[in-house]
Amino acid sequence: MGNAREPTFENALAFAQDLIRIPSPSGDEEAVARRVIEEYEALGFEDVRTDDVGNAIGVVKGRGEAPSVMLNCHLDVVAEGDHSEWEFPPFSGAVEQGFLHGRGAMDIKGPLALQTYAAATLMGRARGDIIVAHTVFEERGGLGMQRLLDSGVRPGAVVIGESTHGDVCIGHRGRGEVEVVIHGLAGHASAPGRAANALDLVPAVLTALHKLAEAQAEDPMLGRSTLVATGVDVLPESRNVIPDKVTVVVDWRVLPGATDEWMEQSVEAAVRAEVGDPPAGLTVEVRMAAQPQTTYTGITSERSLFTPGFVMAPDDPVVRAAARAVGQRDGDGPATVRPWAFATDGGWSRGVHGIPTVGFAPGEERYAHTNRERLSLDEARWTFERYPLLIDAVHRALL
Ligand SMILES: [Zn+2]
Repeated sequence: MGNAREPTFENALAFAQDLIRIPSPSGDEEAVARRVIEEYEALGFEDVRTDDVGNAIGVVKGRGEAPSVMLNCHLDVVAEGDHSEWEFPPFSGAVEQGFLHGRGAMDIKGPLALQTYAAATLMGRARGDIIVAHTVFEERGGLGMQRLLDSGVRPGAVVIGESTHGDVCIGHRGRGEVEVVIHGLAGHASAPGRAANALDLVPAVLTALHKLAEAQAEDPMLGRSTLVATGVDVLPESRNVIPDKVTVVVDWRVLPGATDEWMEQSVEAAVRAEVGDPPAGLTVEVRMAAQPQTTYTGITSERSLFTPGFVMAPDDPVVRAAARAVGQRDGDGPATVRPWAFATDGGWSRGVHGIPTVGFAPGEERYAHTNRERLSLDEARWTFERYPLLIDAVHRALL
């Protein structure tokens, strides 16, 4: 391994710049995955591979004293929008004014590079294996992480590189999109008597959703589950036709433990209670919103738009070890422990599979998904220095 690339901060930064220059919307991560694999090999990682859905996986072998720790970021980024609105072009990877700029600088190609290089610094001295697994489709529900864990990969813990601004994050609410579909009988607007207007049930459906929203539970760390109607789709769209299909769209931010079946059943029960026996010609159907997703490797699946939530206890040994190892950036004592405002692949690792999961990364949430996306170099360097300590602390906490 004598000629492996040096795991320095400067090389990590150059790697991050390269990654930003390769656009990678969800489903189109092949080029960036190839670039990541190339870096794993240059750094001397073992068991380097992409799996069936295109996740990029490599391993830094440990001394076999502790269970494995997985480091996880995602390969996809959200759309960059209008290039003229960016101060620095979205795919330039510019390093200026003390920041790395561009789409993915903080969400998540910068942290991806830092995690990958932090793993490399522990080569030959990690207590347990470090599985570096950067996954596809995180920005659209997490198909990559879901499939990776379903395939049997079972780390002892997962560290996610979604921005925490140097804190240790331990959970978030999940998100589901539910559709209440009212079916009726279309007809000419001039003759309502011959039709069954699907719009007629919308008020009752909205009332049902308000009642369900008021009955939502609260978590001491994550706050309250919220549920709200966010849209009504009407078919056919003609304004002189009585519609036979109306879909009320519900955005539901759920607490850990919610599943898509449970969400469907809960909305169904609430609607039934409010609507009772629907008028003649009208029926109501409740279902999870779904969309087909195709990976760059050619695997298509119809996915419900559901990302599970999760929360770790603040006094969990992995959380305490992580917070102590990271510490405060400008002061003494353990890092601040808090939830994320947004969803991550931790919903799959902890929420569904029960694997201890924490997040640690540089970056301020307010820049994510915006045309001002950037990563502070000072904060990135500090994070890079703390990451090996964090990995070692998590390994020890798993013993
Ligand atoms: Zn992200």
